Amino acid sequence: MILYLFDIDGTLLHAHGAGREAFDAILLAQHGLTGASEGIRYGGKTDPAIIDEIFAARMGRAATAAEHAAFLAAYLPALRANLETGGVDVIEGVGFALAWLGTRPDVVLGVATGNVRAGATAKLAACGLDAWFKGDYIGGYGCDSRVRSELVGAAIARARERGALREVVVVGDTIHDISAARANGATIIAVTTGSDDAAALASADFVFPSLRELPAWHAARFGDGPYGP
Ligand SMILES: [Mg+2]
Repeated sequence: MILYLFDIDGTLLHAHGAGREAFDAILLAQHGLTGASEGIRYGGKTDPAIIDEIFAARMGRAATAAEHAAFLAAYLPALRANLETGGVDVIEGVGFALAWLGTRPDVVLGVATGNVRAGATAKLAACGLDAWFKGDYIGGYGCDSRVRSELVGAAIARARERGALREVVVVGDTIHDISAARANGATIIAVTTGSDDAAALASADFVFPSLRELPAWHAARFGDGPYGP
């Protein structure tokens, strides 16, 4: 099978800062930090790594396990509330690409995201993309590892339990998606719909302006479907 691992934020959807605002509100409530996220880039990073980065920048130390747990307990309700108020937009071309790939019998759709699993689920559900990622779909998450290459590896290992993989294609919007894919020997497609531009993403195997390009690329590469030979 051909496994696709999609990053979520900036690749499939825009959550309009719902996560960042939740981080700031919780870090203010729990640790008295004002503007905790100021100057910190979230794109491509895992939730636990962002917590540690904020702790290091604002308090000069790492967060303890108890502090991570307290943060996550508060994070999910805050994230869900922000998603409800701010809305979530599916990025142009994503619905088209997932609908096309979703009909291929040898394609498995999964995610590789820095979000913790419950956060990923909430974001996908808030814009209807959970239709493509149901039940025990393949995923690697920020709760698997704070290191992105490891969570991509976790997703690939889960897929291998279900069958042989012909190719793994990671799709993401940041340099971190590229390095994590490389570390796992995956093909990397970068899209310029998120936080990094085409110049920053030039080391990807392929760079697309949107995922509308993906079906034609897939058909050309794998010889499958109406675009293919
Ligand atoms: Mg992203």
